Order: sequence, then structure tokens, then C-alpha cells
Amino acid sequence: MASFSALGLSEWLLEQCRQMGINKPTPVQQNCIPAILEGRDCMGCAKTGSGKTAAFVLPILQKLAEEPYGIFCLVLTPTRELAYQIAEQFRVIGKPLGLKDCIVVGGMDMVEQALELSRKPHVVIATPGRLADHIKSSSTFSLKKIKFLVLDEADRLLEQGCTDFTKDLEVILGAIPAKRQTLLFSATLTDTLQDLKTVAMNKPFFWESQSEVRTVAELDQRYILVPEKVKDAYLVHLIQTFQDQHSDWSVIIFTNTCKYCQVLNMMLREFNFPSVALHSMMKQKQRFAALAKFKSSIFKILIATDVAARGLDIPTVQVVINHNTPGLPKIYIHRVGRTARAGRNGIAITLVTQYDIHLVHAIEEQINAKLKEYEVEENKVLKILTQVNVTRRECEIKLESTDFDEKKEINKRKQMILEGKDPDLEEKRKAELEKIKKKNRKFKSMIQETLQQKRKMQMKKKATEER
Ligand code: AMP
Repeated sequence: MASFSALGLSEWLLEQCRQMGINKPTPVQQNCIPAILEGRDCMGCAKTGSGKTAAFVLPILQKLAEEPYGIFCLVLTPTRELAYQIAEQFRVIGKPLGLKDCIVVGGMDMVEQALELSRKPHVVIATPGRLADHIKSSSTFSLKKIKFLVLDEADRLLEQGCTDFTKDLEVILGAIPAKRQTLLFSATLTDTLQDLKTVAMNKPFFWESQSEVRTVAELDQRYILVPEKVKDAYLVHLIQTFQDQHSDWSVIIFTNTCKYCQVLNMMLREFNFPSVALHSMMKQKQRFAALAKFKSSIFKILIATDVAARGLDIPTVQVVINHNTPGLPKIYIHRVGRTARAGRNGIAITLVTQYDIHLVHAIEEQINAKLKEYEVEENKVLKILTQVNVTRRECEIKLESTDFDEKKEINKRKQMILEGKDPDLEEKRKAELEKIKKKNRKFKSMIQETLQQKRKMQMKKKATEER
């Protein structure tokens, strides 16, 4: 394998790598760094935890050192936590340059961010929504001279889903120069390749790790078939076993809703497990605090929604548990990628109910590997079943007595207002739509019934004619 110096990086950057303890480039770095230094647009698709961040941070800092000014580079990423993580790598590697960075994410003070932006930081690391807000509302900074645009977790940024970034991206792309270098990175680029190619304009250098299996070899991938109603007893049993056997292991548990995330956290706390929750209904300060507690290994269990599925780099995580089977293989790949990072070992266990088996097949097809069954001592699970179910129900009742659902509703309405929609009008529209759908369903079944009768009559007629 080549060394960092063979990639064309300057001596000061080699020294920074040495100081960080990274001595040999990973394949994504080895392939993408020279192309970026040559001035090419670049799309890098490499497995989770394979050093994608340094693959763009190193060459960007080299170019910045040759021509230092602000704002030189803009990095966009889908979650706030990832923005902080990327900023940290820029800070550590860019220390000798006296690098000034600015993090622009939702949930944090906007005035302070505006001030920082006006001071011309070298690098801006942002989530699209908040940056678009700044662009629309402020004229005290300009992105017109940026040399680099990086889309980290690029496929997520361009994907249309519950958090749709497309409008914000349009605003941002309108505020940056057409002549720039565009760098796109993710572990799952291939699905959205065409969309991505329209963002990276100058015949991008495309690099994808050549491996049939899309997850890393160090990851042990398992499943447990569980009846829906006893899932949590299995979860408690698994955590207890890991804790008994490996006192220093950290675990991330992924769930599909904020509410379940909260309930599970309360439940595990009742069982005296050191757990913290991370989901989008928490205030940003609480989100950072939870992550800091987990990273410092004081709290060994993080229960999270998919807000933590991508990019988070926490080397101490040995276990990922999917409390629900992810509906999309792509989400599975990112979730399990929170462990077995940078050559370490890890295990991912997915709880699968009878309704999820087709999802497991879809996952296996995508990753090109089979999940193996994880052996569980069922009698131990049965012993705690009642206690776990009662405790969970108690936690649910406790949560219902707070205004969790109400808060969720308020958050939804706030989001609509931010998107320029009238929440009451939207509600009416939704109700109308539902009515129309219901009517349509009725019409459809009436038409079907009529058609059926018609067919019967035709058959009868034919039969009498034949007689
Ligand atoms: P990333 O995929 O960028 O989140 O990086 C995953 C982890 O790999 C981080 O903890 C990096 O510090 C580490 N890393 C990055 N490059 C290298 C390298 N060349 N050798 C060993 N570890 C690395």
C-alpha cells in the first residue's frame, strides 16, 4: 500500500497524520486524494468507517495552505452531530494553519452563527436547512468565492424523504460559484449516482471500493427471530449478557421512532443500565450532551433513531442492535457501520419479527452476505419477560403523562410554518384528501362489483347462447 507522502501531500500534513497516529492511507484516501489535488471533482464510495473524512480534509487543507482566504470551503452534511465531527477533523489536521472554521447547524444560536460567518472562516461546515436560512436572511457573508463544495453522506442530502434537503440545496447551489471543485462521499452512493453526477459537473473522478460485500469483513452480522411482543425482553437479555461478559463494551440500539427511543431509554434506566437517548425531538443541547456522555464511555448504551445512523465515528462501539429491522437496506448499512470501524471488530444484531423476513432478504441481497442466527438462551428471556413488559408499559404511561405526543404535534406545526405552510390549512387539506381517498376507494369497489356482475351476466348469456 502507498504511503501518504506518495499521494502528493505536503510535509506538514504528513506530520499531522503521524501525530494523529494514521500512518498508511486507506484505499479511499489513496485513490481520491491525488485526484482532488489534481483539481478534479470526485465521488468516493467506500464502506463505513474507512476514512472518508480525511480523504477530503487532507487535500482541501493542502490547497487552502497554498492560498489561504475565507470562505474557501463549504461542507454540507445531513446531521448536526456529523457537522461537529467533521469540524473536529478540520481543526485537528488544520491546527498548524491556524484554521478558522464555522459550524452552521439548526438548533443553535443563529445570531452567533451569522457573526462567525461574517468573520470569513476558512471552512464552513453546515446542515443545509440552517445554511439556506442564513443565505436568505443575511448579506454579511458571501459564498461566491468558495473553491470546494463537499457533500458528505451525499446520497442522503439528495434523497427525497421525510427530511427533504432539495429546496435548501437549490438555495445553496445558487449562492456558490459554478466554477468550484465538488467532492461527494458516502458508503451508499450507487443508488443515487445519476442525481449526484448533476451536482459534480466536471467529469468527476469516481472511486468505489471494489468489494462484493458492502459491509466490512470485521463485522459479525447476526439476527434473532423474535415474536413482536417479546422484543424488549430479548433486548434486555442481550444487554445484560454483553455487560456481564464485557464490562468495557459500548452498544448503540437503533429504533424507528422518537417515542420508542424515549420509552426504551426510560425502561433501560429502570433496569439500572447506563443509557442515554438521541433523537430529533430532543433539544440540540441535550443531543450534544447525550452524545458526549456516550463518547466518554460513562454511559455505555446509546438508544437512537436514524439521526445517529450515518457517519458518527465512535471507536469504542462494539455492538449495534437493530431493535427494528430497517425498511431500507441502505439504512441497515449505515446503522451497522457505527461499529467495526477503521479495522476494529464489531457485532451487529438485528431483531427480526415474522413480518420483517422479507426486509432481511432485501438487506442480504444488497450487502451480498447472509446474516447468521444469533443463539439466545430462550429460558433466560422467558424468566424476565413479564417484568420487562410491565416496566415498559409503566414507562409508556409515564411518558404519556408528559406531553410528548403534544410536543411532537407542535414540532410538526412549527416545521410547517418554517416551510411557509399554514398548519391549520394543511390539516384541513389532509382531511379533505383522506375523504377523497375514502370516496375513491368506495367508487373503486363499486366499479369492481359492477364489473364482476357484468362479467357474470356475460358468462350467463354466453352459456344460454351456447345451449
Ligand atoms: P471516517 O470514515 O472518516 O469516519 O473515519 C473512520 C475512522 O478512521 C476515524 O476514527 C479516523 O480517525 C480513522 N482513520 C482515518 N484515516 C485513517 C487511516 N489512514 N488509518 C487509520 N485510521 C484512519
